[in-house]
Amino acid sequence: MPDIHLQKILDKCQTNNPDCDIDLIERAYDFAKKIHAGQKRVSGQDYIFHCLGAAEIVADLKVDSKTIAATLLHDVIDDGPGDKEELAKQLEKEFGKEIIRLVNGITKLGKIKFRGEERQIENLRKMFLAMAEDIRVVIIKLADRLHNMQTLSFLPPLKQQRIAAETLNIYAPLADRLGIGHLKGQLEDSSFKYLMAGEYTWLVNQVREQIDEREKYLKKVAPVLKKEIIKESIGLVKIHWRAKHYWSLYKKLQRYEMNLNRIYDLVALRVIVKDIDDCYATLGLIHKLWRPLPGRIKDYIALPKPNGYQSIHTTVFCQGGKITEIQIRTAKMDEEAERGIAAHWYYTEQKGFKSYLKKIFTPAPEKELRWIKQLQSWQKETHATPEDFFQSLKIDFFKDRIFVFTPRGDVIDLPEGATPLDFAYQIHSDIGHHYQGAKADGRMIALTTPLHNGQVVEIITQKNARPSQDWLKIAKTNQALNKIRQWLSKNPGFGETTKEADEIKKEPPKAEQPIKTATRQIVLKSEVEVAGDQKITTALAKCCHPKPPDEIIGYITLHQRITIHNRDCKNLAKIKDQKRLVSVNWKTGS
Ligand code: MN
Repeated sequence: MPDIHLQKILDKCQTNNPDCDIDLIERAYDFAKKIHAGQKRVSGQDYIFHCLGAAEIVADLKVDSKTIAATLLHDVIDDGPGDKEELAKQLEKEFGKEIIRLVNGITKLGKIKFRGEERQIENLRKMFLAMAEDIRVVIIKLADRLHNMQTLSFLPPLKQQRIAAETLNIYAPLADRLGIGHLKGQLEDSSFKYLMAGEYTWLVNQVREQIDEREKYLKKVAPVLKKEIIKESIGLVKIHWRAKHYWSLYKKLQRYEMNLNRIYDLVALRVIVKDIDDCYATLGLIHKLWRPLPGRIKDYIALPKPNGYQSIHTTVFCQGGKITEIQIRTAKMDEEAERGIAAHWYYTEQKGFKSYLKKIFTPAPEKELRWIKQLQSWQKETHATPEDFFQSLKIDFFKDRIFVFTPRGDVIDLPEGATPLDFAYQIHSDIGHHYQGAKADGRMIALTTPLHNGQVVEIITQKNARPSQDWLKIAKTNQALNKIRQWLSKNPGFGETTKEADEIKKEPPKAEQPIKTATRQIVLKSEVEVAGDQKITTALAKCCHPKPPDEIIGYITLHQRITIHNRDCKNLAKIKDQKRLVSVNWKTGS
């Protein structure tokens, strides 16, 4: 007998999709329950309730069974006890490649943290999508975050602020971009409550009565309109009303001198009809009944919002002269406004899919984020039938880009294959010109090592370091290449090919083969290991002649070379720049 919460999810799945894989969802639940057994949330609740909470949110979006199963399993690797690799293997054995890919994707996204740098927000969102690699991962992560927001009160205030800011700046806009109004509004309002507690309480108290009063009023208006619509034989589906979300109301109030009387859509009347002709017929009928306010008719059917939102909005002097906003749309548009990209999956008839594509291709205002265009072209390339739409939700419009962090948390957007040198020049030409070495996630990497999504990259500079001709063969970005060329042409005589750079071009030297360098240090590359990268050239220091099993430490010298010193070396003690020291080990065995 399944858990009552699980049963609720299973019921939803079956209502939405008779072909859903109940067995898979049940197995995922059993697995997650076993792994999280005995674990508690900060709230004191059993951990599994978080998995169920998030799974119920995605189930409401009517996604496929695998997405629901992956949501139940989303914290198994990250928060489960024991060895992570072992857990991952077990998970893959039980559920296959696709589910483990989704779960891994969610785990990876956990690494992205918003550190309050306003100018970084857009890149951070891109990075989020690039790292997710599959749109379902984003949907699960949004549901995970929404459930965490719903239980945020149990966390310490500082953490509440950080998580709420991240939700408002990264998660809610992504939900909006994907057109998932259902999640966007809730993510925003739950953040608003923590980020601006005073304003939130003020607003809720201000509008509570007005919302009640508006709802009572619309309850009387709706039947009047309904009667007229039926008389005109327009295909009516339903009339309902919904109060505006608090955060969007607050933002609107700021544009209207905080004057609530100027907000006409506090509670808007929503008319849902069968097709587009019915929408325009309804608009005509409403304007015949009640005089429209000039300049307030918005036709988002002809001109959809960039995220695909469609509807006709009009504001009229309604019954008794009360100014009221009315929104008209088809059932499908209504569904898509709530579920956005997740709504695709639901349409089995090809027509629905095509109209969605058409809508998404309608030109958006030019100033809207440029990369929505990339999303659109990705949509275009998805020739999949609606049934396997979710099978191909790979986010590959960022496949040629990588996003890495600076140590301060800024996000740097680079082409795939970019090296630490490109990164350095991207930050500042002086950083590039004085490039000495680089660390990725705290470990040294070679000049030629390509960077990966999500790495924290730190550049070590040296005032005597300078560009060399060979850098032109290593850098990938035009920005770096141009800066290097400029420097070389301004400094003739400098930058001729160095011995060190020659080594980069050549095959790596054979083991045990000593290489004489300009400084006559003996390089015994195979004997010492630098954490993280095999490509880095190492040399044993002349001053202290370390040999195994001495304790050793690496010092980054000019041209990305590492000199190995004895830990007790006197010269080492004189070094002021601790950033230039890296941990190294003697290679064991061979
Ligand atoms: Mn979670």
